[in-house]
Amino acid sequence: METTVIAIDGYASTGKSTLSKRLATNLGFTYVDTGYMFRVISFLILQKNWLNEKGIDQTSLTHALPQLQFSWQSQSTGEKLMAVNGKVYGEELRTAEVSNLVSQVAAIPSVRTHLLNQQRALSKATSVVMDGRDIGTVVFPNAQYKFFLNATPAIRAKRRFEEMQSKDIPGTYEEVLANVIERDRLDSSRAIAPLKKAQDAIEIDTSSLDVEEVFTLLCQHLGKGV
Ligand code: C5P
Repeated sequence: METTVIAIDGYASTGKSTLSKRLATNLGFTYVDTGYMFRVISFLILQKNWLNEKGIDQTSLTHALPQLQFSWQSQSTGEKLMAVNGKVYGEELRTAEVSNLVSQVAAIPSVRTHLLNQQRALSKATSVVMDGRDIGTVVFPNAQYKFFLNATPAIRAKRRFEEMQSKDIPGTYEEVLANVIERDRLDSSRAIAPLKKAQDAIEIDTSSLDVEEVFTLLCQHLGKGV
């Protein structure tokens, strides 16, 4: 069976996951949130106390990585959620603690290698909408459709802050803005699979667009081909 990959990369809090999820539902594709995968590993590092004054305990982490297996868990609604060793994670991955650590974790070579293999395995035999930072450049350089989303840091922080408030996740606007800027800096400057637009990706600046308008634009670009 011929499968399709739609890669949606871009800066932090540009609405990638909301749009990707919606696109996947509309098209009957599987949605793969690769940020979730890096966040799970960051959450486990915090939970297992592998972060100390010297940094991340990479020996313990590298030892544990092969045992972290990502799989699909079907819900009664028909929705497929990503599980890690059988457990589905939720809002605990969106705390400021995890957000402040995740870009450091995402720069570790063994983490990227492990997740690259898992990302490709999860997408076998199914059409996917996959969002992240390196999908169109590294994970699926031959993806049939590639998008790159951007918006000003202030607007992205505002959207993220409002979302956090609606979910009772603690944090101030200033903290969210600082995190968004710092993550972009670390993600863009790392040696392996840095955040950058694939040459053949369509870039969309969402600063003055709402979700509905961006969704319409994505659908227009996808046309009837998909
Ligand atoms: O998409 P989200 O904001 O949840 O991603 C969290 C972090 O995971 C990013 O800031 C980045 O450090 C890392 N990430 C990555 N490559 C991906 C997806 C996420 O490095 N493909």
